[in-house]
Amino acid sequence: MNKNQSLFHSMFPLLKGERIKLSFGLLLAVICSALSFVPYLAVYNIILGLSENKLNFSFIIFWAFLSIGSVILKSLLMSIASLCTHTSAFNTMHKLKIKVLQHMSSLNLGFFNNNSQGKIKTAIFDDIGRLENFIAHNLLELAQSFIVPLILFIVLLTIQPIMALCILIPAVLGIVIPMKIMKGYPDLTKEYTNTFSSVNSSINEMITGMQVLKMYHLSAKHFKRYTNSLKQYTTCLKKMAKTSCSPIAVTVVILDSAILFTLPVGGFLYLHSMITLGKYLLFILLSMCFFSAFFNLINIRMGIMELKSGLTHVQEIINMESIKNGTVTLSSQDCYDIELRNVSFSYGNNAALSNVTLIIPNGTLTAFVGASGAGKTTAAQLIGRYWNVTSGEILINGININDISTKSLMNLTAFVFQDVFILDDTLYENIAMGSDAEMSKVIEAAKAAQIHDFIQNLPNGYKTSLGVSGIKLSGGQKQRIAIARAILKDAPIIIFDEATSFSDIENEHKIQLALQSLLKGKTTIMIAHRLHTIKNADNIAVFDEGKVVEQGKHDDLTKSDGIYEKMWNTYIYSSVKEVM
Ligand code: ADP
Repeated sequence: MNKNQSLFHSMFPLLKGERIKLSFGLLLAVICSALSFVPYLAVYNIILGLSENKLNFSFIIFWAFLSIGSVILKSLLMSIASLCTHTSAFNTMHKLKIKVLQHMSSLNLGFFNNNSQGKIKTAIFDDIGRLENFIAHNLLELAQSFIVPLILFIVLLTIQPIMALCILIPAVLGIVIPMKIMKGYPDLTKEYTNTFSSVNSSINEMITGMQVLKMYHLSAKHFKRYTNSLKQYTTCLKKMAKTSCSPIAVTVVILDSAILFTLPVGGFLYLHSMITLGKYLLFILLSMCFFSAFFNLINIRMGIMELKSGLTHVQEIINMESIKNGTVTLSSQDCYDIELRNVSFSYGNNAALSNVTLIIPNGTLTAFVGASGAGKTTAAQLIGRYWNVTSGEILINGININDISTKSLMNLTAFVFQDVFILDDTLYENIAMGSDAEMSKVIEAAKAAQIHDFIQNLPNGYKTSLGVSGIKLSGGQKQRIAIARAILKDAPIIIFDEATSFSDIENEHKIQLALQSLLKGKTTIMIAHRLHTIKNADNIAVFDEGKVVEQGKHDDLTKSDGIYEKMWNTYIYSSVKEVM
């Protein structure tokens, strides 16, 4: 949230479409608040009747029924008011969640890298969730706390101004003193939001890494990040309790003390015949109930501060710049030469690529090789506009990829990476990936990817569930599923990260066959780890510390006395050692 923007100002557009319902709910809440004075009015009238000797049975019954009626009506109206404000709150939260999710889908992958899952979850569920408390509860309480007491105060001023001011004294003290005491609370709410989101991130990390943690005999106590964040969170909660306990106590005591002022002042005025007995009684009664609604003020104030700090996180996400999206659409008949022209890229301050220039002609296979961390993956991902380049440009068919529409670029490229994402859904869905492809096409792709036989032997075939609730796949099977997806997508540019870990002989053979189907006639970039697989590549680009230091065909590079030659010799040596 913009610092200069008030909470209400930034929330107003979100409430669009909810304002009538919300206003109606608040109006009912105000009526409820007014109705809560009826029983006190009954007591006043009965005592007054008693003092003036005018009391009779029908008069008592009238006020008794009026009080009962007011209580029943109040519960009814309060239910409707609560329904209205809750519906408005849930609708507003829903809209904001969709808005944030839509915006997140337009951000580059750096966002998901730099913001852990836990942090994102906190922003979407917990921070936005605070809106429910604010709209459904705090706004109602605010309407009840202020509007009726204000009107009543004006009426009381006309009846007896000195007594009215006596009633006002606790309100002023009850608001000003806690505000002074709670000065540090806004900073604490920020700390609370940060530590809470850090706990969420570390819990996420811990659950995801549970297998590894167990393998290394690490207990939760040893999981430093988790215990530290939990410690910070608990410390923050304790500080919040310390800061808020005394203001709450002070407010309750002060607001309850109006009678301390009205009793003596009223008595003095009565004795000097400046006020009638009836009015004196009326002020005593009202001083006991006038500020009951004010007790919620502390809660409201704390709720607002927490909401403000939570919405700041949400607003930060919304303010993030979307990834560049052009308007050019490339047709499938175009040829797909790719060119990286002086491309540099940094992850924050960490330079990953520096001045990379590379031409990948249409229909050829280019291999990216180099040590781990040399920049191969980054260069490949930049072609899919996973990130915006820091400087230089990437061209497809002579067009800067920033000018190509996201949809078109997505259609042009298919990524097959080592870390295959499996949906918690059927095998069919895991290959079709939401494309509504006909079953026959999915089967065709699975056959070409050498995974059809495996699927067919499962009891439910393509309807078999995968993911958390379904069967588990081996690394090699997952990779062939990813290849089947790419074959089905039939994109003209394939970016393939060769897996090193699933290289048993049968799987390797199947993957090679699957690749032959996938790569036929495509412009391919292969991030290669096992050099024998790219011996026949049209071009091999050797990456070293973010630069392309050599490129050419295998036979030429092995004679050039450069990095590739050394890599190749080491590779051959280690392969021979493995066989021995
Ligand atoms: P390679 O694929 O050759 O192993 P990468 O492209 O993955 O290399 O990494 C290049 C450099 O960028 C490395 O220094 C790596 O630590 C860094 N890097 C890679 N991904 C990220 C990321 N998501 N955030 C920050 N730094 C990264």
